[in-house]
Amino acid sequence: MKFYSTNKQSEAVSFREAVIKSLPTDKGLYFPEEVPELDYLFLETLDYYSLPEIGMEVLRQFTKEDIPEQKLNEILHEALDFEIPVKEVEKNIHTLELFHGPTYAFKDVGARFLARCLGYFNETENKEVTILVATSGDTGGAVASGFHNVPGVNVVILYPSGKVSDLQEKQLTTLGGNITALEVEGDFDACQAMVKQAFLDADINSKLNLSSANSINIARWLPQSIYFFEAYKQLKDAKKLVVAVPSGNYGNITAGMLAKKMGLDIHRFIAASNANDTVPRYLKDGNYEVKPTVPTLSNAMDVSDPSNHPRMLELHEQNFKDIIKHTQGFTINDQQTLDVMKSCYASNQYILDPHGAIGYQALKEKLEKKETGVFLETAHYSKFLSTVEQALDQKMDLPDFVSDLMTKEKVATKIGNSYDEFKAFLLG
Ligand SMILES: *Cc1c(COP(=O)(O)O)cnc(C)c1O
Repeated sequence: MKFYSTNKQSEAVSFREAVIKSLPTDKGLYFPEEVPELDYLFLETLDYYSLPEIGMEVLRQFTKEDIPEQKLNEILHEALDFEIPVKEVEKNIHTLELFHGPTYAFKDVGARFLARCLGYFNETENKEVTILVATSGDTGGAVASGFHNVPGVNVVILYPSGKVSDLQEKQLTTLGGNITALEVEGDFDACQAMVKQAFLDADINSKLNLSSANSINIARWLPQSIYFFEAYKQLKDAKKLVVAVPSGNYGNITAGMLAKKMGLDIHRFIAASNANDTVPRYLKDGNYEVKPTVPTLSNAMDVSDPSNHPRMLELHEQNFKDIIKHTQGFTINDQQTLDVMKSCYASNQYILDPHGAIGYQALKEKLEKKETGVFLETAHYSKFLSTVEQALDQKMDLPDFVSDLMTKEKVATKIGNSYDEFKAFLLG
């Protein structure tokens, strides 16, 4: 299988190359030349497949020229070594809990799969790969944990000093081993600028084999479709499945659309967003108009020009009418989000995080008779504890995993925001 760029100005490449390069030179996104339809028998007997086994069926068509089956199997068993349960929140509304991985958010799935693919592709090289990541908080943790102890790969994470939460900082700075954290005297943009410059720096590239773990890397995107099959499997008696996806960069929902295109019987999707509602507005009239990003309580979705929008178009042969046939938008603001968290807890004793809350409310308002709803709970609520406490108007106990992490010792190297200092560090 080859992967082409959605901008169509770069040549099509193998899975291996698409993973290593991350972004095509024409700044599009990689997209598979074919979307294989899965065997009817597989879809009818999902029950008999474990999560990694589903992963095998879904992914092998995309990777078969580049990863032997045995290896893919090993990668999937390592990457998906936690459960992704569906739970009933109330009648007809279910949650797909994507937060049982090591950093308590769905990004673990893609980050762990990508890390192992890169590790495998690098086995035949005699040079270690260095992954550079700039993070404003969450992504860095998933990437760091995903790559931890993967042989042949070193990770250097740059984060803005004092601008990530204590929990996030601990996730970045306590792993050790092949993970190095740089605490930068500057903001996220400064971190990102340094990483970008390093990729263009000939001195660095002649010494180090650099790679990125960009969120739109094909190896982070494709495995996200696996859990839509898992949700369907666990809801096997449900009729007309409607999936509400709290969305920011639109990786998750487009992975769901990919699953549907491969044959999974999802009735329709709801793209649930916060005040950054470019896509819900687009779904109304076909007009894609980007406004400035506004900060919200569901900050992992504070994106106003979602990178994955071209993949949404590609999945529907650029046909807007086709997209809206089975996709609807939904938006609420911060106050409504807090109200929803409170009312869901009061009536169901289920604690929503501020992202999942928007998906839940989308189903409350948009689910029709004879439909069954499932929303993606994209992170564990404890990652957003102060918002949860505000919404529920009570102090929450820290879950054990958080208090354990908080007792670990932070190890980070402080650097200023000058590129030369960063470069000296990398070359030193
Ligand atoms: C990244 C993230 C999202 C947004 O996911 P997209 O695939 O970018 O739309 C939603 N919720 C949480 C908790 C996230 O970390």
